[in-house]
Amino acid sequence: MRRVGRENTAPEMAVRRFLHASGLRFRLNVRGLPGTPDIVLPKWAAVVFVHGCFWHGHDCTHGRVRPRTNAQFWFEKLEGNRRRDARKSRALRQLGWRVLRVWECQCRNDKLLSALCKRIRYA
Ligand SMILES: [Zn+2]
Repeated sequence: MRRVGRENTAPEMAVRRFLHASGLRFRLNVRGLPGTPDIVLPKWAAVVFVHGCFWHGHDCTHGRVRPRTNAQFWFEKLEGNRRRDARKSRALRQLGWRVLRVWECQCRNDKLLSALCKRIRYA
């Protein structure tokens, strides 16, 4: 199921493949959970968001890009995204989920993904 207006899902696919190869089993885009996490691992009480660096404000070269035109619009839009992410994460934690995040720029970094798998299993 694809949500309308989604960002590129290639990073999500890469993360899913890695988790799956690591023996982790998950569900996708479970409805009814705040923020509709990209990956849900009920067994580990964990959810994973795969976030685009630009849209979700990662502190990296991609995330720090700011369009020069309509600066105010973009500032508000990206701040809004950030605040919404924080709100959804809080709501998920209150429901007992551990909230993990992978940035787009990390999704092909095996070392970071291995660390993510460890955190899912042992956090
Ligand atoms: Zn990034």
